[in-house]
Amino acid sequence: MKYNMIVLVKQVPDTQNIKGDAMTPEGTVNRAKLPAIFNPEDLNALEEALKLKDKFGGKVTVITMGPPRAADILRESLFKGADDVVLLSDKIFAGADTLATSYALSLAVKKVGDFDIILCGRQAIDGDTAQVGPQTAEKLGVNQVTFVDRVIDLKDKKITVERSIEGGFEEVTSTLPVLLTVTEEANDPRPASAKRVCAYKRAMTPLETQTYDDDYVNGADKNTGFKIKLWGHEDIGAAPEQCGLSGSPTMVKEIESVVLEARDFKNIDKSKVGIESLIKELMTEHIIG
Ligand SMILES: Cc1cc2nc3c(=O)[nH]c(=O)nc-3n(C[C@H](O)[C@H](O)[C@H](O)COP(=O)(O)OP(=O)(O)OC[C@H]3O[C@@H](n4cnc5c(N)ncnc54)[C@H](O)[C@@H]3O)c2cc1C
Repeated sequence: MKYNMIVLVKQVPDTQNIKGDAMTPEGTVNRAKLPAIFNPEDLNALEEALKLKDKFGGKVTVITMGPPRAADILRESLFKGADDVVLLSDKIFAGADTLATSYALSLAVKKVGDFDIILCGRQAIDGDTAQVGPQTAEKLGVNQVTFVDRVIDLKDKKITVERSIEGGFEEVTSTLPVLLTVTEEANDPRPASAKRVCAYKRAMTPLETQTYDDDYVNGADKNTGFKIKLWGHEDIGAAPEQCGLSGSPTMVKEIESVVLEARDFKNIDKSKVGIESLIKELMTEHIIG
């Protein structure tokens, strides 16, 4: 039996490389100054979908919501093996919190339709909330299994997975359709295939092809006929007031930049005396007692 998978992926600032002008004086991230990367756990979600396609057949569609440059991670997805890709990009989507993000994504998933498994990363490294996957499942009214480390079995209309829980693992079986959030433990994402890079390196959104009109027919690459789908709020039937900033009830009250200094750390000698002094200090501070 074949399965159709939809993978939700996010382009994020490379927070491992924050330095200099990558932070504003207010302590917020200056996104324009940071390299943008594929959210790491979304690569694991894509890999899991591609593994299921390799084993059972079916189709992998990748969706991202973001600015026009987010098309880069859709091209990366095509290079690795995705069959179809969609960029949700519209000024109305800007400033979305997780509620408005999952609203738009759930409508895009409905528009793609005919899906068995939706795969997300466990969480994005910039927003870090891990809310978008579960909220999307709720809006679609489908089962969800979070923190998935391994797909154990997929048969007929049932999937069994192993998920991480505090202090151990849990085996969960769900009927399809289901939304899974996938952790970095799940797999090692495959590299791009050279053959697919050649086939899809010119895949673009209609926004990008405007400057190369001669090589494209109606936005599609003249040689392959392929184009990256670009959907705005009207294409997915989204109510403008539920999108972007106006659909986002989350308020940022205060942003604090926490700088850890060396005096916050203490080296404990590995000797018996060192350990005894640590225990004494923890008891004095009432941390243990
Ligand atoms: C008031 C407010 C304004 C904001 N304005 C902006 C803004 O202008 N620009 C901005 O980038 N962020 C903005 N944010 C941050 C935004 O809320 C989150 O980045 C976004 O909603 C996703 O949440 P998260 O990063 O915590 O994702 P998580 O919930 O941690 O992500 C989990 C998984 O969901 C999927 N996913 C998450 N986001 C997307 C996406 N966009 N497309 C496809 N799949 C996705 C991925 O699979 C991801 O691994 C704003 C937040 C607030 C509160």
